[in-house]
Amino acid sequence: MKIERRTVQFHRDTANLFFHILTRCNLKCRHCYINPAQHGAGILDQETIQAWLHVFAGGKRMDRHGKIQSNRQARDINLVFLGGEPTMNPALPEAIKTARGLGYASVTVDTNGYLFHDILDKVTPEEVDYFSFSLDGSTPKVNDAIRGKGSFDACTRGLARAGELGFSVSVIFTASRMNIEDLEYMPALLEGFGVKRFFIQVIGIRGNPAKQGEDRLQLKRDEWESIVPDVAARAARKGMHCTYPKVFLSLEEEFACAGLVADNFFVFPNGRVYTCPLCEDYPIHAYEIRKDVLKERQLITERDLYALRIPEGCVMNRVLHPGNIPYDELGNPIGRIACCMLKEEVLPAGGRA
Ligand code: SF4
Ligand code: SF4
Repeated sequence: MKIERRTVQFHRDTANLFFHILTRCNLKCRHCYINPAQHGAGILDQETIQAWLHVFAGGKRMDRHGKIQSNRQARDINLVFLGGEPTMNPALPEAIKTARGLGYASVTVDTNGYLFHDILDKVTPEEVDYFSFSLDGSTPKVNDAIRGKGSFDACTRGLARAGELGFSVSVIFTASRMNIEDLEYMPALLEGFGVKRFFIQVIGIRGNPAKQGEDRLQLKRDEWESIVPDVAARAARKGMHCTYPKVFLSLEEEFACAGLVADNFFVFPNGRVYTCPLCEDYPIHAYEIRKDVLKERQLITERDLYALRIPEGCVMNRVLHPGNIPYDELGNPIGRIACCMLKEEVLPAGGRA
């Protein structure tokens, strides 16, 4: 099967809303980025979730000077419900129905596969575009060492059941030193479950890994570039649409910060709204939701940092992970780090998953 590769450039036509409806979870994955001290420990109730879905779908936004504008319409926003484990929130089915009713462009649920509160029996394939399952290994041995005992079986059981009920399913694999050698076995496993989209993520040193000092889990450039594009191609040849972060840029390639040129909102139960995931461990969120208004915060927030132009590319990466930038003997960077939201796609030629 012929495949095609492309870089997915940022554009302003659509926005992405990553809505964490709780931070609680039944698992304790080693790379989990959830940070209740920063994100809140509450479970959003149905009323609040509905109000916040309305805020982003044409509701009010207030800038630093108190000027009120309307947010974009729901039809231009891709919505992802996540947590914590979002299916642990009993309000999720109603939240999905509300989002559909408001006309969000797409509705995805990211899950660890335990599928609490019989979620698959309370929503329909017409209401959910994708259930996206997190699986970090092709065997219980590899996966469970990262995500916890029994999680491989639970996840693959959930994946199979979702497929049987007619839901579209995708899988997210978070690559690190613990499982990169196993990545090559994933396409064959996922093909058997009818997976349409395969997302390969790279471990970020936030949340749990940062607390445990596990920066040794991070992959080096040659490990990433020698394995991931090949596995993505293999998945595409099996008919899957595979996406992975670009991570490294040559000096000739154009750099863009999504915080400046795209609309991405990462919403947490305590009302914090970030526009860059790398900033989520710090109280520098650009917005907060107050009285059902998306309010821009005063100086200094993440948005004030994006405008700092540096030869290394991503400002937040330079602050948080300076070790992954290569320099020459004069101290000039010989490569740049891309925005963490810049993706490469590999898919069957002419195919759209
Ligand atoms: S399933 Fe997700 S939210 Fe839960 S511990 Fe794992 S990474 Fe964190
Ligand atoms: S990851 Fe870097 S480049 Fe992307 S939005 Fe954040 S600061 Fe900007």
